[in-house]
Amino acid sequence: MSDRLTAVLAMLFAALVATLGGALLGWGVMRLEGGAAALTHAPLRLSVEGQSGGRDAGPAAAALAAPRDGQRPERDTEEQGANAPEHWADPGAPRLAIVIDDIGQTLSAPRELLGLRVPITFSILPDLPYTRAAAEVIAQGRREFIVHLPMEPVDYPIHDPGPSPLLFSLDAEQTRQRIEGYLRELPGAIGASNHMGSAYTADAGRMMLVQQLLAERHLFFLNSKTSPSRVPAEIAHDGRYAYLERDVFLDNDRDEALIARQLERAFARARQRGHAVAIGHPYPETMQALRAGLTGPAVHGVRLVSLSDLLAR
Ligand SMILES: [Zn+2]
Repeated sequence: MSDRLTAVLAMLFAALVATLGGALLGWGVMRLEGGAAALTHAPLRLSVEGQSGGRDAGPAAAALAAPRDGQRPERDTEEQGANAPEHWADPGAPRLAIVIDDIGQTLSAPRELLGLRVPITFSILPDLPYTRAAAEVIAQGRREFIVHLPMEPVDYPIHDPGPSPLLFSLDAEQTRQRIEGYLRELPGAIGASNHMGSAYTADAGRMMLVQQLLAERHLFFLNSKTSPSRVPAEIAHDGRYAYLERDVFLDNDRDEALIARQLERAFARARQRGHAVAIGHPYPETMQALRAGLTGPAVHGVRLVSLSDLLAR
């Protein structure tokens, strides 16, 4: 066989693998669409603890461990002929939710991420030039978004959380009005997470107010864990609020190889514990690492899901 023919065959094979991979991921995405509906009812209590074996013992957490009965989704026709790995059909497969923070500065970032055809959840900052437009683009792309609540960090104002943040200087009524303002700007949000907030998330009074406000609207709180504080988790436990925690930050180091390694850690965490949340940012290095890492073997054995899918069980 000539070298040229070998090269052409290799290219065709690569294209076939990419197409099948896309179909499988697309199917993985489609089966999540119903997940958000579960959140419009009673808030769930789901604490995702940092340490292995520390999973909350509540009913929602118990449900998380059990395979769902009778919910095996229809395979779409594209997948019928494919020799799909069994885990794609396994409702008990480990699940990983990837969240991309700090959306709202551009439209190119969400567009590019939507192009990955995997169920990324977007966390949108309020009051940015493209806050509303990004939400529209993401909704049209049939993906979920949450409000990225800007909160006071320990080194404020050296580090500035951005326009109209939640600060210690605001009283309860001002805080409520500010959060309601964010939610009016992003009415399709299914939850919220903290942007910065290493000081704010450690304050019980502030976090009680924030988490209560979210729970009243059947929105969950994703703790980005910019602080090691247990305050948000304890408030969620006491109030039985829907709650998640970040397990892995993908891109504290903006280096593609290091981000790829963090992605592997996120997959490993999901396999080890059954579920995990990874958070990244719309950096070119992160985009590239996701593009490479989410279509390769690292996906094997782990299903990429939206945050609502992670909470729904
Ligand atoms: Zn952020």
